[in-house]
Amino acid sequence: MSAFSLGDVPRLSRSTVDRDESVRVDAARLAELWARGRVIAVDRKGRTPVLPDGTGVLDRPAGEFGEVPPDRVVLLGEFDGHGYWALPVDEELTEGTAPPPNSWMVWPGGTAADGAQWHDLRSIGGLLDDTSAGLFTTAVALFNWHARARFCAKCGSPTEPANAGWATRCTGCRREEYPRTDPAVICLVHDDDGPNGSNVLLARQPIWPPHRYSVLAGFVEAGESLESCVEREVREEVGVDVRDIRYLGSQPWPFPRSIMIGFSAVADRSATIKVADGEIEEARWVPRADVRAALEAGGEIDGLILPGPTSIARQMVAGWAQAD
Ligand SMILES: [Zn+2]
Repeated sequence: MSAFSLGDVPRLSRSTVDRDESVRVDAARLAELWARGRVIAVDRKGRTPVLPDGTGVLDRPAGEFGEVPPDRVVLLGEFDGHGYWALPVDEELTEGTAPPPNSWMVWPGGTAADGAQWHDLRSIGGLLDDTSAGLFTTAVALFNWHARARFCAKCGSPTEPANAGWATRCTGCRREEYPRTDPAVICLVHDDDGPNGSNVLLARQPIWPPHRYSVLAGFVEAGESLESCVEREVREEVGVDVRDIRYLGSQPWPFPRSIMIGFSAVADRSATIKVADGEIEEARWVPRADVRAALEAGGEIDGLILPGPTSIARQMVAGWAQAD
């Protein structure tokens, strides 16, 4: 019997575009990629127009946005002979549009004057095809970074974008900065009843909707290894010691700029659970049969709502549930 793995590739880890770094500083190549370019527009709330069933982003020909790349446009990469770009826009939307069926109801979207429905990545990322998922995830990650990188971290002067959006350069000291990502660990803790256990430790935060549970997660601290972070976070959040920490996979989570690094670990089911005040409302061991039932029912049964399909937590739980 082998150790379990992620049930599927995490939904926001899928990508098909070529991220050739050398193109970003090659003016002639950039001009070619703009001439054959497609543009994804993203509004200030991180929403983009999508197909009615949420399976793809609706890009537009670059020529609609000008002869040359406009300010603040970023190059996402090249795919199938096209340059793919993203542009921050101020679009007037009618607010409150319901997300497509089977999306992760996080926030309602908006509808543009042309009837297109705009939705955010967290809501529809699980539905998107591989190319759209990679494009939209990268666009959101870059824009969220740019929104927080407008001033030099060293001297405080304003910065300007460089390298087709993949760097900023300080207008004072000329320091360059590259897109930042904050590592966070996320850990599925199971008991030691067999190599994959028979129960998983799920917890809920007080701000979550009733009955929603997930695996444990937390940010990596300065000077800390990923493994130490897993041990510390689980101990802090539920008061339990873990062992046999094992890497599972990762997924970008650009809200605003994390990458979730997934692990499994083992704990004794007899250990006393002591939840962190204010951070965790409740933690409990859930049998595999209950998790399977929730997955078969689309993600929830009475008293147990699993993490949404866009999250790596969902893939972790699904992978564990499939194992014996
Ligand atoms: Zn500076």
